[in-house]
Order: sequence, then C-alpha cells, then structure tokens
Amino acid sequence: MSTIHMDKRHDESSSSATPAKPGNLQSPQVSTLSVHGGESRQKPGDSITDPIFCASTYTFENTQAVINFIEEDQPREEYGRYGNPGERVAERKLAALEGGEMAVLYSSGMAAIVGLLMAKLNAGDEVIFFDECYHRSREFCSKHLARFGVKTLQVKACDYDAMEAAITPNTKMLISESPTNPHLSIVDLDRFAQIGCDHGVDTLIDATLATPYNLRPLAAGVDYVLHSVTKYLAGHNDLLAGVVVGSKEKLEPVRKLRGIMGAVNSPQNCYLLSRGLKTFELRMQRHNENGQRVAEFLEAHPRIEKVYYPGLESHEYFEVARRTMRGFGGLVTFLVKDADWRATANIVDAVKIPRIAPSLGGVESLIEQPLVMSYYQCTPEERLAYGIPDNMIRLACGIENPDDLVADLAQALDRTA
Ligand SMILES: *Cc1c(COP(=O)(O)O)cnc(C)c1O
Repeated sequence: MSTIHMDKRHDESSSSATPAKPGNLQSPQVSTLSVHGGESRQKPGDSITDPIFCASTYTFENTQAVINFIEEDQPREEYGRYGNPGERVAERKLAALEGGEMAVLYSSGMAAIVGLLMAKLNAGDEVIFFDECYHRSREFCSKHLARFGVKTLQVKACDYDAMEAAITPNTKMLISESPTNPHLSIVDLDRFAQIGCDHGVDTLIDATLATPYNLRPLAAGVDYVLHSVTKYLAGHNDLLAGVVVGSKEKLEPVRKLRGIMGAVNSPQNCYLLSRGLKTFELRMQRHNENGQRVAEFLEAHPRIEKVYYPGLESHEYFEVARRTMRGFGGLVTFLVKDADWRATANIVDAVKIPRIAPSLGGVESLIEQPLVMSYYQCTPEERLAYGIPDNMIRLACGIENPDDLVADLAQALDRTA
C-alpha cells in the first residue's frame, strides 16, 4: 500500500539510527512519507530534488517505440495532458500519505470534484449530500449535474438515518465533507461508510479541512477521499490543485476522463506541490496547535457568543472528533456576541496578522466574514438555510506563533468593543 520507493541501501543505512520508539520501515510515518514518498532514490542528473521537465510532449526514438508503448502499455510519458514526471511523484506522495492505492491529481479541488462525479455518474443516477458543504460543490451538483439528468438530494449534515432513508435503487454516491465548512461538523466515518457498504453505494469524503495527518477516511472504509490540495497539502497559499485518492480499480476510469478534460497541473506546479509537501507534518502540528489555542482563547472571551472547533468540549461533535482524529486543524469559526454585520466586519478589519482573503490551510493566517466573502449575493433566507449568520467570522490559522495570534485577536476585540 504505502510503499515509499526506498531502495535497499536506504533501509540498511537508516537501521543504525535508534529512535526512542523504533520505527517500522515497512510502514513509514507521515514526515518520512512526505519527504521521501513517491520519489526515486537516484534522480536524473544525480539531483537530490526532482527536476522540472518543461515539456508539453515526449519523444519516441522510432516508430517501433511508439508501437511498443501502445501494445505493452509501457509506463512512460506521452503527452502533457496525460501527465508529467513531476505529477507522478506528487501523486505517489499523496497516495502514500493517504494510504491509498492511487491518487489522481487535478488543477484544482473543484476540478477534482467535477472530474470524479463526471466519471462516475450517468443520467438517471442520484447523489446524496450532507448539506453543510463547500458552496461550489453544491452549485455544481444542483445546477450543472442536473442538466445531465443526475439528481442531487441534500439531507441534514450527520443525519445518518435521513441519508439512509433517501437512498433509492438509483443512488450511486453518498458525499460529505469532514470537517464541514464553516461549521466544522465531524462525520462518523464508520457509520457513513457502513451505509454505503450496506446499500452498495460508493462513498466520497472531501477531507480538505482534515488532511491525511488528522483523518484517514480510506481506513474507515470510505471509497474516495478528495482534497483541495490548494489548502493544507500544498500549504503555502501559492498554488491550486486537487486530488482524489482510492483504489486503482475505481480510479482508472477517473484518470482516463481527466486526460480528456485536461484539468492537469503544469510541471512547475507539481514541483511546488512536492516541495510544499516536504514540511506537511511540521505545518500540520502547528496548524493544530494554533487552532486549539485560538479556539480556547475565543471561547473564554466575553465578546464571543459561540466557537465552532472540533477540539473544544463544547463542540457538538467533540466525541466523534476525539475518537477519530489526530488533531483538529487550523480553522476556527466563531460568532460575535450582540454584533451586526458591520460590528463583525470591524473585528475582521482590526486584526493585524491574518490577511483578509478566502481560502485556508496556508502558512499565512487568513480571516473572513462568510456573509461578505462567500454569501454576499445570497438572500437572508438562503443564508439562514446555510447557517451563515451576520456575526460569523472564519479564521484560518496559519503557522505563525500562537502567542502572537492570540495577542492580535485580543487587541482587535478590545479595540472594537
Ligand atoms: C477550497 C475547497 C474546495 C475547492 O478547492 P479549489 O482548490 O479551490 O478548487 C473544495 N472543498 C473544500 C472543503 C474546500 O475548502
């Protein structure tokens, strides 16, 4: 499964190290996988890093080489829309981190969702969503899949009975995020996967907010894990990418359609991603620490009405989160007491470290008021239905120093009181 492309020499040379808790090279851990996973030990040009091959196409020595490639299905490059060497490295790294057989990388998280659903659904099929979800995923299903005769049903997040009751013979996929955005509800993946299994329906978890560091949906029996790689996995707010991880059998047709859709990453983008992934575990540890610290600070603050963070005992899904997750990430959503939209905006404008922007998961902290950033064009009724009140703020903690983040929030809340 999560083989790490280490050759024999590596195994021998590293056996001299005696860590306090002996590692098992048959199942290397997160940082070892994120640094070395998916890479050849000896690379072109004897470079320690994977080179960027700036090529749109790849050459064949002669006609027979083309024929051999086709007839023998040889593992080599052909044309840039079908992949590039750097992309294969990034895909193997991501598959190893997620503990999956295969990863298919896309040019954005949305391209991954669209690519997977277009590959798997036919006219007449139905999909069922938990209703707390990324608004563009919802829009793609309800507005666009509908045009191709695919029916989308939404049930309340984490209402497993409602999801099961909504299944019909036409149901092809159950979809959820976990944690959800921005309410950070946590899906009980064992239950979710079991419903899919009992009814012979595929299950998909968008685990962008959790990452494979905090959550392992495939191990719980979920069929597909999807990430907006743009967020924590790439981690530096400098690129867009998306990925679907699962079994080879289920993902082969998905990869084929990607080659037709053309939603692929440039060799440069793939290099940036693999580079960003090297520090994945270190970054996640700090995101988890910062999220917890900031959530605890806000919960104790007199100006705060409510904090949504799975690592707080007050969180609706704290027990599920504690049982199934290693940490709870950097995203903290909170409501300001007795504040209208303007008073809430004043706090967003008063912080000095986080920058005002959509997105999350990068080294820089980002802050936004969902009403303004993502739901400005919705009616008040729609916002109510989506659970987006005027006094909601979403803070995506980066990897800055936790004391500084807390001090910054303290001064912003004091200054605007
Ligand atoms: C950002 C995000 C997406 C979309 O990903 P892009 O890379 O922006 O296309 C999908 N799902 C979740 C949970 C996200 O946060």
